[in-house]
Amino acid sequence: MPLIRDRIQEVREKIANKLAALGRDDATIVAVTKTHPVESVEEALRAGIAHIGENKVQEALRKIPMLREPYEGFHFIGHLQSNKINNLLSLKPALIQSVDSLYIAQKLNASLGRKNLTQDILIQVNTTAEASKSGVSFANAEDMLWQIAALPCLRVKGLMTIGLMSIDPEKTRPYFAMLRELFERFGKLEIPGVEMRYLSMGMSDDYLVALEEGSNMLRLGSVLFGARDYGARQ
Ligand SMILES: *Cc1c(COP(=O)(O)O)cnc(C)c1O
Repeated sequence: MPLIRDRIQEVREKIANKLAALGRDDATIVAVTKTHPVESVEEALRAGIAHIGENKVQEALRKIPMLREPYEGFHFIGHLQSNKINNLLSLKPALIQSVDSLYIAQKLNASLGRKNLTQDILIQVNTTAEASKSGVSFANAEDMLWQIAALPCLRVKGLMTIGLMSIDPEKTRPYFAMLRELFERFGKLEIPGVEMRYLSMGMSDDYLVALEEGSNMLRLGSVLFGARDYGARQ
């Protein structure tokens, strides 16, 4: 098994080469640490990872406070339940990437208001329209954007999506392209308090295609840490 450090180095090089070919230099790696132990997360941080992502509040609550290495941002990337909001906010997430309904946006806004906080978020769009995935539909995304923009404690910073669970990343390319078009269109709306800054798309199997389609935030798990063992969820 290659070391996490070596995997990170290899992926970084691939990303750098792709960005150079595209004439860009602007992609943030969010290392998705779900199921991996604190020691592995620390190894990644020592290897230069600055952003980490978890998709379960309970797991994040156990792990994040144990980290002894500094990190720049903790990202929440999973479906958020309203009864977990306060626990999540206690971890001071840099970005909640997975706001997937007006209901959860309103609950989040209310909790933040009581604490006098604001929160950067992304709206999760279910680009592939698979029932197993959360996220707002393409058709409802603009309505959602306007409604969330009106909530004073939330700052929309962009869009997030999950591609197809397919071994062929080319199958996901059109969905990434559609989200980038939406991202660009939303940017032109100039909605107060909304900034289209992060386009979070691309995971271990499709991150190079995602970069080609304009992603500037990659969420990478298994390509950095190896396969996940859900039986051993930390
Ligand atoms: C698990 C997860 C990832 C990372 O998946 P890999 O295929 O292991 O890179 C990215 N985004 C979300 C929302 C996830 O839940």
